[in-house]
Amino acid sequence: MDNKIKTALTNSDKNNIWHPFTQMADWLNDDPCKPLIIDRAKGSYLYDVDGKKYLDGISSLWVTLLGHKNPRIDKAVKKQIDKVSHTTFLGLTHKPAIDLSEKLLKILPDNLKKIFYSDDGSTAVEIALKMAYQYWQFKNEKRSFFLSLKNAYHGDTIGAVAVGGTDLFHSRFRSLLFKSFFAMSPYCYRCVYRKKEIKFPVTAENFKDHNIQMHCRGQCIKEVESILVKNNKKIAAAVIEPINQAAAGMIIMPKGYLKEYANLCNQYGIPLICDEVATGFGRTGKMFAVEHENIKPDFICLSKGITGGYMPLAVTATTNEIYSAFLGKYEEFKTFFHGHSYTANPLACTAANAVIDTLNQNKILQKLQSKIKHLEKELTSLLEHYRVGNIRHCGVMAGIEIVEDKKTGKPYDSKLKTGAKICANLRKHGIIIRNLGNTLVLFLHLTMTNRETSKIISAIKIELDNL
Ligand SMILES: *Cc1c(COP(=O)(O)O)cnc(C)c1O
Repeated sequence: MDNKIKTALTNSDKNNIWHPFTQMADWLNDDPCKPLIIDRAKGSYLYDVDGKKYLDGISSLWVTLLGHKNPRIDKAVKKQIDKVSHTTFLGLTHKPAIDLSEKLLKILPDNLKKIFYSDDGSTAVEIALKMAYQYWQFKNEKRSFFLSLKNAYHGDTIGAVAVGGTDLFHSRFRSLLFKSFFAMSPYCYRCVYRKKEIKFPVTAENFKDHNIQMHCRGQCIKEVESILVKNNKKIAAAVIEPINQAAAGMIIMPKGYLKEYANLCNQYGIPLICDEVATGFGRTGKMFAVEHENIKPDFICLSKGITGGYMPLAVTATTNEIYSAFLGKYEEFKTFFHGHSYTANPLACTAANAVIDTLNQNKILQKLQSKIKHLEKELTSLLEHYRVGNIRHCGVMAGIEIVEDKKTGKPYDSKLKTGAKICANLRKHGIIIRNLGNTLVLFLHLTMTNRETSKIISAIKIELDNL
């Protein structure tokens, strides 16, 4: 692109736009990296306005599922545009949404029977929270607390923030929020309960150390139980990101934790909301993360990968038990008074139908298993690096925690912005990933090739050597 046009675009962006999760003072100063102006994309790659290509190692922030510009989704959406691009879902319905609900109910846990549409991850969670809250009113119980986990992330709207446990994002709003209980996050590498047990450095031999994991799990579950023992009658629902607290830096739960957590909710009669906004549609190696531990939650929230990254769409799936509590005469006003302008947008539903068809017909999940093994092999070798403190991964999601001192696990001072600097330098290798603090995050397309995965890991190694 002509430099003059590029400069004009950059200036216009800087003059007019406020970017999400961005310190705009840094953005204006081109720090840590120049605004990259994306022009087009294909497969695993994004191309900037100069035609330079970048390997997208984070699925454009966890949404593109089957690569960019997927021919099947492209075709389906184009066809739907020729029919109708939007119609309200209040008092009307349409085939793309009807087809999608059938397809979803076939692949979701079989206790889930109803699909409520909205348009992003935050709204999917808000809807589950509101449904649970209203449900207890029909049972003549006033329950206004929720159970969540420290380090949890469920979105940025206020209800989702109320069950968010990431102080950096959420503490500023605390006084505005409804009350939630936060149990310990099962973050084994830095679990406060097992400081003494921690084995540093964490190497390939002990990074999956069963005893450390089981000890962490036991302590964390005890805390959930003690909250439930004391407060179960106040709690409207428990909300959890199954298997992976992704936005906290890919905190993977110890094996069995989720099952125990779900069992406790069941024992105390607390509806369970599983937020699969990040983990859904194969990212963990199974269609949904709950399948790893055979959980049947009362709600599942879906978004991000659902349309393959084409269009905003979200789903809150729930049981007949919850749904039927809302049935009644019009004048009883049991109606769930909630909806968004773009609820069940037909283009978005069409994209989602194409995604599920592709997952099913192209055996994407079967093919994925060897790719996951390859990623695991690469990550295991990276763990030997003296700057890598811990690696956590599940399916095609991975967090690589960079430390100043591997022996003690001492983190880099956040002022140094080590994680962000590594990501900025990786752009020079033609690779786009993002950091969460000092954890480098990989969130791969299900269609990523082994060569592409290896390319990312090699470039990370080079940048770690340069630290
Ligand atoms: C991203 C995310 C959300 C929020 O989704 P938005 O579409 O950004 O509102 C909620 N929950 C989890 C687990 C997420 O990863």
